Amino acid sequence: MIIPLLIAPPFFLYLLSKLRQLAIAHEQLMVIASTDGLTSCFNRAAFTTLVDAYLDRVDRQEKGGEGALLVMDVDHFKNVNDNFGHDMGDEALKLIAQSIKSTLREVDLVGRMGGEEFSVFLPGIAPDRVVMVAERIRETVKAVNFCPQGIPCNLSISIGGATYVRTASFSELYKLADKLLYDAKRQGRDRVELCQLGSGPPLAAAH
Ligand code: GH3
Ligand code: MG
Ligand code: MG
Repeated sequence: MIIPLLIAPPFFLYLLSKLRQLAIAHEQLMVIASTDGLTSCFNRAAFTTLVDAYLDRVDRQEKGGEGALLVMDVDHFKNVNDNFGHDMGDEALKLIAQSIKSTLREVDLVGRMGGEEFSVFLPGIAPDRVVMVAERIRETVKAVNFCPQGIPCNLSISIGGATYVRTASFSELYKLADKLLYDAKRQGRDRVELCQLGSGPPLAAAH
């Protein structure tokens, strides 16, 4: 009778420490599973899920919210790989991801959607301020000092963005932003094209 009573407290503490270790391991696994290994941005699945969940919550609030989704793609990135090799291409992607993040607030989300395409979600930002944020991202990437093998190599991105007021779904924002990204590419690259979801004319055609 006395032996189980003696063993119970240390055994309980042991179990507790194991549970704590499991919780930490679980958290680490979640981070690994949701992160892009090269750039440390959210991967596509995690980014989509997080933005979806955020917009769902906004949808349920009476007043709704406002914000924007930007989709960006590195211009002529194939040339970087062709001229300097795939590893240098990877370095360029890391630098680009860092410079995108450096321009943003803590609450903003950055995802690598695949290849040389990134997406940024800006919650709680008025549509008329999004041009400024998108332009700042574009300019910061353009100013990146990328010198593979000592040869200066200019980097630039094109950006399409969809803003929303009150409510929106991820898929409709992404569809509009992606279409505007395509417009930015067609109009010469290294530029920003924005539009408000549900409205006709573009908000801005910058640069
Ligand atoms: P555009 O301005 O039209 O976007 O031209 P682009 O050359 O950027 O577009 P394209 O789609 O022709 O080429 C994209 C290139 O990105 C081709 C692919 O090999 C490269 N790429 C995709 N993912 C990675 C990656 O993880 N690392 C490296 N180094 N290259 C990648
Ligand atoms: Mg590209
Ligand atoms: Mg691309």
